[in-house]
Amino acid sequence: MGKRQKMAAFLLILIVCLCAGCGEQQVKKSELILDTAVTLAAEGADAQAAIDESMARLKTIDSMVNPNVPDSDVNKLAQLAGTGKWVSLQPEVYKMLATAQDFAVKTNGAFDVTTKTLVDLWGIGTDHAKVPSPVELAAAQKLVGWQKLELNEEKQAARLQEKGMGVDLGGIAKGFAVDEVRKIYAKYGIENGLINLGGSSLYALGVNKEQTAWRIGIRHPRKEDAQEKMAVLPLKDAALSTSGDYERFFEAGGVRYHHIIDPRTGRPAQSGAISVTIVADSSVPDGGMLTDLLTTAVFVLGPEQGIHFLQTMPHGIKGAIVDGRYQLWTTGDMAKELEDVSKDFQFWQGSGELQ
Ligand code: AMP
Ligand code: MG
Repeated sequence: MGKRQKMAAFLLILIVCLCAGCGEQQVKKSELILDTAVTLAAEGADAQAAIDESMARLKTIDSMVNPNVPDSDVNKLAQLAGTGKWVSLQPEVYKMLATAQDFAVKTNGAFDVTTKTLVDLWGIGTDHAKVPSPVELAAAQKLVGWQKLELNEEKQAARLQEKGMGVDLGGIAKGFAVDEVRKIYAKYGIENGLINLGGSSLYALGVNKEQTAWRIGIRHPRKEDAQEKMAVLPLKDAALSTSGDYERFFEAGGVRYHHIIDPRTGRPAQSGAISVTIVADSSVPDGGMLTDLLTTAVFVLGPEQGIHFLQTMPHGIKGAIVDGRYQLWTTGDMAKELEDVSKDFQFWQGSGELQ
């Protein structure tokens, strides 16, 4: 090798070393946002910038949907309910409401963001949780109904027809937020990372440190220790959400009162489901938002109707529903993909055959 060639080879090695040494960063950060423990992990040259921008974006989304922020869009809607006045909405809130209304129709009202008056009345997860009286229930239920939420696409505005109504985006906002972070990761060229909003809505991007698919633990719905798993799902480039009656609940008279309300009965859904997990692969637009709202909707629908409903969804969406007898009802290749399934659970005999 001549002097020049040696020099060139040395420079090449130096450049490769520099790229490998300084270019890739692995960054992980946790914060409490959207009422949940958010953990963002990213790998790439711009990982820190991607995570900082994502955290800021999550705080902005929180301020739009948080009922404790006085001038949030959801509060304005409630304040002007019944006056006939339209509320101009931020595009993010409009998109969530439009999607919610679409799925209110598709699920025959099982998913309904106007369930807010009932959510507030039951107060599940707050220090004033209680079983309401039949009179209170009837009064709150009168103020629920997706047909009484009007949207104007051109004006990006909405209004609620009756005073006392409100909207609750708790069943959709976290999934929407996952999609927004996903977009920021893409902008910064992040190829590997985990966007985790409290374990209930997440996106697994690329591979983990071991260079394999992310391994997502699905919580055992009846073990107090949140670390106890029902199963593990390897996930790569896909969104996942889980909803269950174990997340927020209280018990009275042997009944479990939880935070997913069936708007048709006014009570915590008793559909036979105790936990629902939905996955959307990267071919599904708005996969985070869809998996989030679908877990809530399918929980209300219950295993049988829920499975049939999931089969009407785009191909990249699949799910697993656990019923009270610990049977797993699945669609797509979910039954095959689930690993380390706890021996407490069995697959329902029709799993996977229906699709
Ligand atoms: P998730 O934990 O994703 O299932 O969402 C549950 C949250 O969604 C609740 O805490 C409420 O804020 C809201 N919610 C409850 N029931 C419904 C429903 N039937 N439709 C839409 N949102 C609901
Ligand atoms: Mg949900």
